[in-house]
Amino acid sequence: MPQNVIFAAGVYKKVAALVMILYSACLFSEQGDLQVFGRFYPGAMLTAQAPVGATVTVFGRSVYLDPQGRFVFGLGRDAKGEVDIHVSTGPGAAKVYSFAVEPREYKIQRIEGVAKKYVSPPESVLARIRRDNASVAKARKVKTTAADFREGFIRPAKGPISGVYGSQRVFNGVPKRPHFGLDIAGPVGRKVLAPAAGTVTLTHPDMYYSGGTLLLDHGQGISSTFIHLSKILVATGQRVERGQVIAEIGATGRVTGPHLDWRVNWFDQRLDPQLLIESP
Ligand SMILES: [Zn+2]
Repeated sequence: MPQNVIFAAGVYKKVAALVMILYSACLFSEQGDLQVFGRFYPGAMLTAQAPVGATVTVFGRSVYLDPQGRFVFGLGRDAKGEVDIHVSTGPGAAKVYSFAVEPREYKIQRIEGVAKKYVSPPESVLARIRRDNASVAKARKVKTTAADFREGFIRPAKGPISGVYGSQRVFNGVPKRPHFGLDIAGPVGRKVLAPAAGTVTLTHPDMYYSGGTLLLDHGQGISSTFIHLSKILVATGQRVERGQVIAEIGATGRVTGPHLDWRVNWFDQRLDPQLLIESP
């Protein structure tokens, strides 16, 4: 092999190693007695380790610490600047650690052909929409000590990705709220699998916007929401395993075609499902 090729290969290897070190540095941060695993990136779920028995607040929310001192939290779509984590191990032993959030940009998605009743809903359905929103919000507030999210997530359905997290949506030319789910296109009736184990906290056959709706609690505020379903195969309170068939893809609610819309939350913070199935 010519010298210059060997030299180039050597440089390439060194650069690749450096990139890997920098990348893994993004996946782990440590300050004082707090270790955090994951990227401080909008939409990310992060896990952390504090001293056993500590009291921890993130975004002013007091989080559950397991007996090993571990906890989970997530960053919403518009997280920016710094995240402050307060760790207290006793009276006069409170510390604040600040972590910088990486910037993130989102796409603009224009969707035409949405039925008018979904772009500006008639007065008569506003009460129904409020009821739907209230039951979903209530299910996402469920606080359990389960840790199903720790086992990792799998893709809940086969099919091409037709919509991503965070994109700004414009329906028939009217700017609307961003899209928070990961859309997977597929025919009505295709299986929907539980991306992680969990407990069913809500099922509804037909919400105004989201149609057939199912919520799974993965523990400690991490939940999955599946919408536009044609069929729900599990019941509220039921325990499901990762990979179990829980529903079927549909075209119910505000859709332009059959697809699964999968959302992930940490309480009311909306996370990016794609980051969960891509993480190493
Ligand atoms: Zn969607």
